[in-house]
Amino acid sequence: MKKIRNFCIIAHIDHGKSTLADRLLEFTKTVTNREMQAQLLDNMDLERERGITIKSHAIQMNYLYQGEEYILNLIDTPGHVDFSYEVSRSIAACEGALLLVDASQGTEAQTISNLYLAINHDLVIIPVLNKVDLPGAMPEEIKDEMVELLACERDDIIPASGKEGIGIEEILNAIVERVPPPKGDPEAPLQALIFDSTFNSYRGIEVIFRVKNGQIKKGDKVKFMATGKEYHADEIGTLGLVQIPKQVVDCGDVGYLISGIKVAKEVKVGDTVTHTTRPAQEAIKGFSEVKPMVFAGIYPVDTSEFEELRDALEKLQLNDAALVWEPETSAALGYGFRCGFLGMLHMEIVQERLEREFDMTVITTVPSVQFNVIDTKGKLTKVSAPSEMPEPTLINWIEEPFINAQIITKSDYIGPILNLCMDKRGILKNQVYLTAERVELQFSMPLAEVVFDFFDKLKTISRGYASLDYELAGYEESDMVKLDVMLNGEAVDALSAIVHRSKAYEWGKKLCEKLRELIPKQMFEIAIQAAIGQKIIARETVKAMRKDVLAKCYGGDISRKRKLLEKQKKGKKRMRQVGNVEIPQEAFMAVLKIN
Ligand code: GDP
Ligand code: MG
Repeated sequence: MKKIRNFCIIAHIDHGKSTLADRLLEFTKTVTNREMQAQLLDNMDLERERGITIKSHAIQMNYLYQGEEYILNLIDTPGHVDFSYEVSRSIAACEGALLLVDASQGTEAQTISNLYLAINHDLVIIPVLNKVDLPGAMPEEIKDEMVELLACERDDIIPASGKEGIGIEEILNAIVERVPPPKGDPEAPLQALIFDSTFNSYRGIEVIFRVKNGQIKKGDKVKFMATGKEYHADEIGTLGLVQIPKQVVDCGDVGYLISGIKVAKEVKVGDTVTHTTRPAQEAIKGFSEVKPMVFAGIYPVDTSEFEELRDALEKLQLNDAALVWEPETSAALGYGFRCGFLGMLHMEIVQERLEREFDMTVITTVPSVQFNVIDTKGKLTKVSAPSEMPEPTLINWIEEPFINAQIITKSDYIGPILNLCMDKRGILKNQVYLTAERVELQFSMPLAEVVFDFFDKLKTISRGYASLDYELAGYEESDMVKLDVMLNGEAVDALSAIVHRSKAYEWGKKLCEKLRELIPKQMFEIAIQAAIGQKIIARETVKAMRKDVLAKCYGGDISRKRKLLEKQKKGKKRMRQVGNVEIPQEAFMAVLKIN
């Protein structure tokens, strides 16, 4: 145990975490050059393309320090607010953290929110000034900032460059010297923290854990304390570049467990593994169920693909425990599924995976948060789809979810950010200067206002110099209304939304305008209307098409004509016929583009 070090890397997105991790793996010869592919830890295609780490992973390195062999477990943490609970569990599995700060950018919100998590878990922080090779690096300034933020010694900061391989050995030495070995009692009943899981279609779910107390042996009968389920530890081991089966995973170490678990839901991040005989008295603190925050309908573009979509969602759920869904029907879209996601990024990822891994073409409806609707009889119903909203006369009041948001920015941008947050019905709760130029703003804000384009807007008005983190605070009473959209007099349920009354008129007007842009001209005129109950609040018209597009190339070159037809066919892929009107996919997401 004295020779084990468990650490993670905390960094704002793009500050070079993955690149540095690769260098550490190379330096310790955990991977050979031949095996080395750029950004080894981001092993899902999607992660690689988006440059984000969606799921956390762990990897073990052996490092020779002053003639002695050490085991360094690098625990990777996801870098997006949608996955903040997983970050907190990864951090709970470590004793130390490398805090990476880009020498040209300085500290940002994810740096700081993760730093707070690390400090709360008593992690030793090793400050690393990364990307010192950049021409735009401001090492002295950023060091000042880090000293102020961390109350550390200037000399504690390790200058590094993952790209150029600068500072790698110093970092590894610092991990051995400064991060304490794991505590824990090898003789105590087993307590292992599950901080991740991966899915393998042959072997089932692989549970990734950190042993806090006791030890786990191959063949042990174990129990997951939150779910109460029992399994055999068919295979256990440690995590190198590949899994290394072992007879024992010791106190303090990180390992994997395979026991034929088929359903991701049974493996909950934050759960505690113990033995069925001589079980631990208590679970490791900090477990909570991940709850979906954003809901949307997912429908096959081709209505005949409903069963295939169900199949695809079932498979996705096997390795994405946060994804929930149930069948739903829409008058406009037919049979589909109501899905719950952790946040907008999670929703996009699910949609993309459905398309890439399962070759499905889907339509996603307007995302919504979950409201509490209290009816006139005092009964509470959870409503996350406009179609579930009862008649206004039956509603006593509605509550919506609020968050506590932390925004970190340069003081120059406080004004515009205050305006944006107020426009999003936010209330400023606190303002703290982290350094002379960097300020943390704390808001109470409706979650519904944050799930759409808030993050993009925040980035724009601050020129990228603001970062956001949030947690759910609770429910508060709110004046919400259901806004319907009608095309040629026919309500299109999939375009309805639940919005705050103060914003309903503006929303309706802008949505109609956006839909006018997005719905292509057809053979007849199309009236687009927005309504609250019986009351029409906005109207736009899509004029009828003047003449056949093909007429343009009448008598002309036949291949051009074919191309045009093919183009139309392609464009149709994501069209949906509602009544007599064809609606493109973008229209169902128009809400997201409203300014
Ligand atoms: P992550 O989002 O924190 O994992 O960051 P990445 O490791 O993916 O790096 C983000 C970008 O910064 C990539 O384009 C890297 O090539 C670049 N980068 C990473 N480390 C360095 C460095 O030390 N120096 C320079 N100049 N660029 C770097
Ligand atoms: Mg990365």
